Amino acid sequence: MSDALSLDHLRGLDAGDPLKGFRADFVLPEGVIYLDGNSLGPAPKAALNALQHAGSAEWAQDLIRSWNAAGWFQLPLELGDRVGRLIGAAPGQVAVCDSTSINIFKALSAAAGLRPDRKTVLAEAGSFPTDVYIAEGFVASQPGYRLRLEGQDGASILDMLGPDVGVVLLNHVNYRSGRLADLVAVTRAIHEAGALVIWDLCHSAGALPIGLDAAEVDFAVGCSYKYLNGGPGAPAFIYVAERHQAAARQPLSGWWGHARPFAFETHYEGAPAIARFLCGTQPILSLRALKGALEVWDRVDLDALRAKSLQLTDLFIALVETRCADHGLALETPRDPAVRGSQVSFSHPHAYEIVQALIERQVIGDFRAPDVLRFGFTPLYLSHEDVWIAVETLRDILETGLWREPRFAARHAVT
Ligand SMILES: *Cc1c(COP(=O)(O)O)cnc(C)c1O
Repeated sequence: MSDALSLDHLRGLDAGDPLKGFRADFVLPEGVIYLDGNSLGPAPKAALNALQHAGSAEWAQDLIRSWNAAGWFQLPLELGDRVGRLIGAAPGQVAVCDSTSINIFKALSAAAGLRPDRKTVLAEAGSFPTDVYIAEGFVASQPGYRLRLEGQDGASILDMLGPDVGVVLLNHVNYRSGRLADLVAVTRAIHEAGALVIWDLCHSAGALPIGLDAAEVDFAVGCSYKYLNGGPGAPAFIYVAERHQAAARQPLSGWWGHARPFAFETHYEGAPAIARFLCGTQPILSLRALKGALEVWDRVDLDALRAKSLQLTDLFIALVETRCADHGLALETPRDPAVRGSQVSFSHPHAYEIVQALIERQVIGDFRAPDVLRFGFTPLYLSHEDVWIAVETLRDILETGLWREPRFAARHAVT
C-alpha cells in the first residue's frame, strides 16, 4: 500500500483534524462505524438533552404554558433561520415544518402559481422517487398541467427548457450516485429560460456549503433527519426567496400560516412572509430535538466540513479500489471531487447481501435498489481510521465470501 493509504499516515491526519472534537458531541454505539448518516443522522448529545428537557419539564410540568414560555410556537421560524445559515439563506426565508414530500408540494404549487401561463413541470426520472411522485400528484390535481422527466422525455433538463416550462424540480445531490449538480449555473439557465427552480437539498444540507441567496434560487426544500441529525422523522425545511414571498401562494392554507392565527377568523388570509408556508401544528418534540442538534451545527465551519468530507470520500474510493480490486465493485460516484456530494456508491450484483454482511460486522451503510452499496461520509464523527477499518472489513467480507451465507439474502422492509 502506498504511504498515503497507510494506517500510520491516516492516524496522523486524524491527529491534526480540526473537526475531531465534534466526535464527542455524538452518542454512537461502541465499535460501530456509521456510514449511514446521510440516511438517518446519529444522536447528538444536545438533541437527547433537549428531548429530555422538552418532555419532563416543558411538557410534563409547564404543560400548555410552554407554547409561550418555552417558545414552542416560534420554533419553525426560529429553527428556519438557524438552518438558513447552513444553506446560505438570510433570515426570514426558511421555515422548519412538515416533511420534505409535503414541502415539495407546497413549493411546486407556489412556483407554478408565479408562472401561470407555463404549464409544464420538469423533474428528473433519476431523482429521489418522492420528488417525482409528488410532482405527478401535483400535475394530476391541476387541469392542463403536464410533467416531463429528464432521462425519460428528454436527455437533459437544459435541453428540455422552453416557453411552456414554468417550474423545474431538481435534486442538488443525487441520492444514488452522489453526483452534485451545479446549483449556480443550472439556476441561471432555468431563469434565462423564464422558469423558476426548486432545489431538493436532502443530500446536501449539512454536507457542504450551499449559497441559495447568492445563486438567486427561488425555492428549496430538504430534510433535517439526514446530515443535520435532527432525529427520525424530524421535520423538513422549506426556503422561499424573499422576493417571491408576497406573491407566492400555497394551497395547504392551515391556521399556522394565517396572518392572525389566534384571532380565529372565519376565512384564510396568509401571513405576510415565510410563515404562510406553515400549515398546522408541528411535532414539537421533534423540533426540540432538532434545536439541540443545531447547537452542534451552529459551531461548524462548513468549509472545513467540506474539505474533510472530500478527503474521506477520496480516501474511501482509493482504498476500495486498491484493497478490494477484482471483486466486481464498480464506482457509481463521480471521481471528480468538484461534482461529488458526501457519499460514495459502488454497484455490485450482490450489493444487498454485501451490505447486510457489513452491517453484521458493525459497518453500517445501506443498499439502494437495484444494485448499489451506498456509504455516507459525515466529517463531524468519522475519522480517516474509521474509513480504513470499514474498507478492511469490506475486503474481508469479499475475500472470505462471507456475504454468500443465506442469512444475508433475507430482505427487510427498510433497506
Ligand atoms: C430522503 C429524501 C426525501 C425524503 O422525503 P420525506 O418526505 O422526508 O420522506 C426527499 N427527497 C430526497 C432527495 C431525499 O433524499
